[in-house]
Formats: sequence, C-alpha cells, structure tokens
Amino acid sequence: MARYTTLRLGGPAGRLEIATDAIEIVRRVREAEARDEAVLLLAGGSNVVIGDQGFPGTVVLVRSRGFQVVATDADTVTVRVAAGEPWDDLVAATVERGWAGLECLSGIPGSAGATPIQNVGAYGQEVAETIVAVEAYDRTHREVVRLAAADCGFAYRGSVFKYSDRWVVLSVDFQLTRSPLSGPVRYAELARALGVEVGDRVPLADARATVRRLRAGKGMVLDPADPDTRSVGSFFTNPVLDREAYELLRERAVDVGEPPHWPGPGDVVKVSAAWLIDKAGFGKGYAGPEGVAISTKHTLALTNRSGAASTAALVALAREIRDGVHARFGVPLHPEPVLINCTI
Ligand SMILES: Cc1cc2nc3c(=O)[nH]c(=O)nc-3n(C[C@H](O)[C@H](O)[C@H](O)COP(=O)(O)OP(=O)(O)OC[C@H]3O[C@@H](n4cnc5c(N)ncnc54)[C@H](O)[C@@H]3O)c2cc1C
Repeated sequence: MARYTTLRLGGPAGRLEIATDAIEIVRRVREAEARDEAVLLLAGGSNVVIGDQGFPGTVVLVRSRGFQVVATDADTVTVRVAAGEPWDDLVAATVERGWAGLECLSGIPGSAGATPIQNVGAYGQEVAETIVAVEAYDRTHREVVRLAAADCGFAYRGSVFKYSDRWVVLSVDFQLTRSPLSGPVRYAELARALGVEVGDRVPLADARATVRRLRAGKGMVLDPADPDTRSVGSFFTNPVLDREAYELLRERAVDVGEPPHWPGPGDVVKVSAAWLIDKAGFGKGYAGPEGVAISTKHTLALTNRSGAASTAALVALAREIRDGVHARFGVPLHPEPVLINCTI
C-alpha cells in the first residue's frame, strides 16, 4: 500500500479495487462484504498509517470526481462534492468563483470525502463550519442516507465517521458564502503574514496564497521533491486539558516557559503538542531508526525521510516521542491519523 499513502508506508492489500463513482463505491463495498472480507476505504492516503503487514481485506480506492451547485440564494451557494474530488482543487475552484468558507483550508492534501472524517481544520477554519450534509452508505442498515451536519458529531479532529467502519462517505454538501472576501481571519500567524489584524477580512485569493505559502514553509504542502512532506501532516493532536491538568503542566514546565495554549469549548484549554514535543527534547530533525525523523520544518510531522523505512520504525519513533512527553510533562499525546494494522 506504500504507493497509495503520503508516508510511502504500508504492506500489501489482499485486494485492491478502484471505484470512480458513488454507485461503484457502494458496489465494491457490498461485494467485499459478500466475500466476508474486511473493507478499507482509502482516498488520498494522507491521514493513514498502514502496518507493514498491510491490509488483508479489500481496499477500495475512492476515485469519484466533480462537484455541482445544488442550492443557491442571494448570499450562499451549496455545492455537492464527490468524495474522491481532490480537496485542494475544490478549494481553488471555490476561491476562483468568489465563494468564501474554505480558503484557509488551502493546501491540505487528500480528498473532499475524507474532510468530514476528522473535521479537517487549519488556520482558524474547519469543515464543520461549512458542511451542511454528508451523503453516506450506512453499512449497518445497508442503505444510502443523508446525514445533517448536526448528526455528524463534529469535534476537534473528530466526528462519528472517525474510527468507524459503519459509514462510507459518498458526497459532501458545503454551504459557502458569496463574497470576494474571506471570513474574519482568526489565526494570529495568518493575520501577521497578511499584514492585517485578527478579525479583518481579506480577498479570498490572498488568504489562499498566504495559507499555501505558510504551509509550504512548514512542509505541509505535498512536494515529491521534499522528504519533509513524506508524512501525514500533524502526527499528534493538540492535547485538550481541564484546568487542573493545565495547572499541573504549568508547574512541570516552569523551567522552560509558559506552555502555548488556547481556550477550548467549556473550561478546557488546548495545548500545543509541537511545543511539548520540542521542550521534551525532540527537536526538528530528531531521527529514529531506518531514516524516519521529525520533519526539519515542523515538530509535529513525523516523516519517512529516507523513503525506505518501515511502519515499525515510524511507530517506534512515535512511541518514543509520546513516552518522552509523558515522562517530562505528564501529558498524554494521541495520534491524529488513523492507524491500520499497527499501533503506538
Ligand atoms: C502534508 C500534510 C498536511 C496535512 N495538513 C492537515 C491540516 O492542516 N489539517 C487537517 O485536518 N489534516 C491535515 N492533514 C491530514 C489529511 O490530509 C486530512 O485528514 C485529509 O482529509 C485526509 O484525506 P485523504 O483523502 O488522504 O484520506 P485517507 O488518508 O485516504 O483516509 C483517512 C481516513 O478516512 C477514511 N476515508 C477516506 N475516504 C473515505 C470515504 N469516502 N468514506 C469513508 N471513509 C473514508 C479512511 O478509511 C481513513 O480512515 C495533512 C496531511 C499531510 C500529508
């Protein structure tokens, strides 16, 4: 499977099927079920870590394409996007047409259909803000259903779809705003790079170009020539701590400074995983076995730098980092990608 993942890791598939439209996706899944085989949906392969043993069942490669406008009013446009549509192509098309809502999610690899799975987010925007419905095949009841956003259980890097075999996403409806300007810029680093204040709006194309530039500087836009991008993006989510746990962290971090944090929903704080990793002694470029390493551009990205590593080596590095952060700060780190036939 290595050639189908951005990490370039993963052993063989039992069977590999390509599905180019929604009907074919459902048919492939049902055929595999009829053979009593496990099923793995795979699109861009940019958020999975597949074990060296591979996947013994059927892998369905989601390759459906296209989007269409399904509703409009004076202020908004609703687009229905096929699951396999490359995400950044969609963002580019919406920016070009003057539809706001996805611009800060520019440059993220993978497919549109995978964005609801972990409620993809970056630079102060997440897809939960614009998704109004998800069309999915429900493997439990063997029917195609349309889930309203409220039924998707969107949370920070999560939803009802993540870690669940039940749902096969077929298309996603995004409601976007007709506007030449972005939504209010929420992310301080992005505002600085744009030369505006947090809360200001900027032309959509400027938001997109600046986000892509910032991302490229961190190795967060896929580039075959850059081994720092042979990753799944962020390997760990930012820990969400209650007040008490956060105060304990501050005490343990007193010699290295105030941990960067943001208020979360309710009385919780989100802490920077990159900061914890760095301060625990795992800086940019920190190397593990077989040429796996922390990206030289971003502490949160673990890379198959050599291009010749095994999943076991990457997982060993992830474990070392997780255990090191826990020993130093008492904070558990959790992986962001979906782990398939491997564990950290
Ligand atoms: C360089 C880089 C930067 C990244 N930056 C970000 C970022 O800023 N923010 C962010 O949130 N993520 C980021 N990611 C992670 C990743 O790009 C996103 O999570 C993306 O949405 C994954 O899409 P994919 O098509 O590659 O999914 P895949 O990796 O193919 O699949 C991911 C999971 O979704 C499931 N899945 C995929 N398609 C379907 C479907 N149609 N139906 C049901 N299940 C499905 C798979 O089974 C798997 O469990 C980054 C990754 C990389 C490599």
